[in-house]
Amino acid sequence: MEKEKSLMVHERNLEQFLESLGLLDDIQNGKIECFNCKDKISLNNFQSVFPLKGKIKVCCSKFECFQIALEFKRGQRK
Ligand SMILES: [Zn+2]
Repeated sequence: MEKEKSLMVHERNLEQFLESLGLLDDIQNGKIECFNCKDKISLNNFQSVFPLKGKIKVCCSKFECFQIALEFKRGQRK
C-alpha cells in the first residue's frame, strides 16, 4: 500500500520534471530515444537526463546505458 503510494508520487514528480524540461510531450509521443541504445523512451523506462554538448540527452533504464550516462555526468567521457 505505502509502496504503491510513493510510486504514484514518484511518477507525478517525474512528469512534472520532464514537463519543466520540455520533454514530457515528446516522450509521451515516442519521439525521444535513449542516447546510447536508441530505444524509445517512455515514462516506464526513463532513467535520467544529462547535458552533453549543450543538449539534453535522455537515458533509458538499462544498466549499461545508465553507467555510460553517469560517466558523461562525471566528465569521465567526452
Ligand atoms: Zn538505453
